Amino acid sequence: MKGYAMLKIGESGWIEKEVPAIGPMDALVKPLAVAICTSDVHTLWEGAIGERHNMILGHEACGEVVEVGELVRDFKPGDRVLIPAITPDWNSLEAQAGYSMHSGGMLAGWKFSNFKDGVFSEFFHVNDADGNLAHLPENIDPVDACMLSDMVPTGFHGVELADVQFGDSVLVIGIGPVGLMSVAGASMRGASRILAVGTRPVCVEAAKKYGADEFISYKDGPIADQVLAMTDGKGVDKVIVAGGGVETFEDAVKVLKPGGKIGNVNYLGGGDFVTIPRVEWGVGMGHKEINGGLMPGGRLRMEKLGSLVSSGRLDVHHLVSHVFDGWDHLEEALFMMRDKPRDLIKPVVRIEG
Ligand code: NDP
Ligand code: ZN
Repeated sequence: MKGYAMLKIGESGWIEKEVPAIGPMDALVKPLAVAICTSDVHTLWEGAIGERHNMILGHEACGEVVEVGELVRDFKPGDRVLIPAITPDWNSLEAQAGYSMHSGGMLAGWKFSNFKDGVFSEFFHVNDADGNLAHLPENIDPVDACMLSDMVPTGFHGVELADVQFGDSVLVIGIGPVGLMSVAGASMRGASRILAVGTRPVCVEAAKKYGADEFISYKDGPIADQVLAMTDGKGVDKVIVAGGGVETFEDAVKVLKPGGKIGNVNYLGGGDFVTIPRVEWGVGMGHKEINGGLMPGGRLRMEKLGSLVSSGRLDVHHLVSHVFDGWDHLEEALFMMRDKPRDLIKPVVRIEG
């Protein structure tokens, strides 16, 4: 089979590999559509997870089951499925402790394009198929379904980590596709005011649709100064970080009210340390929580988030700014994600038909 791979840091291309073998609980899946992620950019060009040789990229896909192992109960060849970017081992101790995304070690629930070949391939392997796949609702187009692999669960996880409650004022730093889903999730959870940081006009327009009220450009000076000016110096109840670099935590701590919480889902691709401003952190006693987490994967979450989309309560289509047809356009879509043109939110490549 052919797959689009990271050859080494900074170099990518098509390679030939054996079709992966599946174990008794696994599935072999072929993609119907795949989406490019900013994390692919961090991995390939920034070397953020270290060197990888000839590893097939990609972790966002919607697909059709080709083959299943003899112990798989609920899926069969021909089923159309949602596939989460994170596919934990559900019988691990970490999963039993409630941290499935770290099953087998820190971040080890993230297998595609990290510890094994990813989804930019004619076929890919899914471990623990009954625990990780979900049936694709009939009224969701495979292109939109790709938003359920990572963008929806990650953006929503930021909301969970920040513990957004009814009536909270919320700052969302970064309104790429992940931050846009954090805006949508915060709005669903009952935020009373959502301030959003980002400059791409398409993202600003989409953020308005998802419930953001006011916008801040990080190019117009420190984010913290702008937020404090907009809130009469009081700051906000919760901050979700979905963009920017290590320096965003300083702003986040500065604008948080005592007792506030930060939920980070941003992948920090560079820099050695995150610094916390001592005084604004209440000289260590401000009750300002900092939580950062990889999104949980798994079937239950996929089914629930899928039902939000199929019921019409969440419209993910605003995220899909570019649709390409066929593998021939995969590289173009990937390079587009790296270069982030002003009209980009999320590029998707349709494989079927
Ligand atoms: P994008 O690059 O599309 O969006 C980033 C956003 O951050 C944009 O709104 C951008 O603004 C804004 N931004 C850029 N620089 C700054 C800055 N200095 N200060 C504040 N805001 C800034 O990213 P995605 O939405 O695709 O992904 C967001 C992050 O989430 C990535 O790091 C990605 O790797 C990570 N991620 C994490 C996952 C997890 O499970 N934890 C899973 C998937 C992704 P502008 O409009 O100007 O471009
Ligand atoms: Zn992703």
